[in-house]
Amino acid sequence: MAEAPAASLRLECDGDALAANWRALDRLSGVAAAGAAVKANGYGIGARRASAILHEAGCRDFFVAHSSEAAELVDLLPPAAIAVLHGPMNLADAHFISAIGVRPVINSLHQAALWHEAGGGRCDVMVDTGINRLGLPPVQIGDPALARLDIDICHSHLSSADEDVPRNAAQLALWAKACGQLSPRRRSLANSAGIALGSAYHGDLTRPGLSLYGGVQRAELAPHIRQVVCPAAAIMQVRTIEPGDAVGYNATFTAPRRMRIGVISIGYADGYLTAWSNKGVFRFGTAALPVIGRVSMDMTILDLTDAPDLAEGDWVQAEYDLREASERSGLGQYELLTLMGRRLAR
Ligand SMILES: *Cc1c(COP(=O)(O)O)cnc(C)c1O
Repeated sequence: MAEAPAASLRLECDGDALAANWRALDRLSGVAAAGAAVKANGYGIGARRASAILHEAGCRDFFVAHSSEAAELVDLLPPAAIAVLHGPMNLADAHFISAIGVRPVINSLHQAALWHEAGGGRCDVMVDTGINRLGLPPVQIGDPALARLDIDICHSHLSSADEDVPRNAAQLALWAKACGQLSPRRRSLANSAGIALGSAYHGDLTRPGLSLYGGVQRAELAPHIRQVVCPAAAIMQVRTIEPGDAVGYNATFTAPRRMRIGVISIGYADGYLTAWSNKGVFRFGTAALPVIGRVSMDMTILDLTDAPDLAEGDWVQAEYDLREASERSGLGQYELLTLMGRRLAR
């Protein structure tokens, strides 16, 4: 069978920046070690690729949401380095988690019972200290089912680490109390933003995700975090339009002058959403190429004025500094990362 030709769009990923971001977050975690959240396919950049780079950089604790995500990493990482945040969904899942040698995060008394029934073994525990998402309510911590668990890490998760609000200290106090009751080997509370809240929040292990991949939710982290991902697409067609000519669906852009424009192979089905219509910018070297008109399903149209030599087949890169991109598009940094779909060859 003939081989498919190279794709006309890709998600460029700077592995050195990813490793550097982990090292920076590990340093900022002080005496605590930094782990890594690699759930949701490594926030869209590829869980296997990210995990290999992070392990090489020195990361020894990895967090996924589902047991199926853990199973995709067990040939790459020591299974004992992987924890499943959602915990066992049912008895079969508990047996599966046990069989592949990873740790479940126990989020409820029901999950504790499932884990015991599947044979037990080392696990983590998540205590809900106010986000009211997953985790054991503090009032259940005295339950005998928990006393029988072999607990590696006692986790909690901050709801508002990107804000300076009293809720952070309240969650910290509840987590510290829960750790005192459960006597785990290790304690973990902070996500990326939580690392910037200071050493009291670090415990023994931090769990950054977003900032590994270039996201910055607190100003303190900005000087330490490098951009990791960058969508890139090839120019498929170039044309010259006259003053008054309209561009794209619903003619939302009208040429003010004679313009050279290019159609590139990326659109909202690839994760480059319509929020970028008439707002996004692509780059070719230092040349800035604004998005004109509405982003289509698989295509976007650029003003090539700043790079007059660009031709069909040339590649351009989206401006995708997550903080700036979030402000400009109104989309969250987490979504900007995870949106970049499967069609982007890595
Ligand atoms: C996703 C997740 C993290 C990582 O959070 P970021 O804000 O991406 O750094 C940490 N802990 C838990 C429990 C998570 O679900």
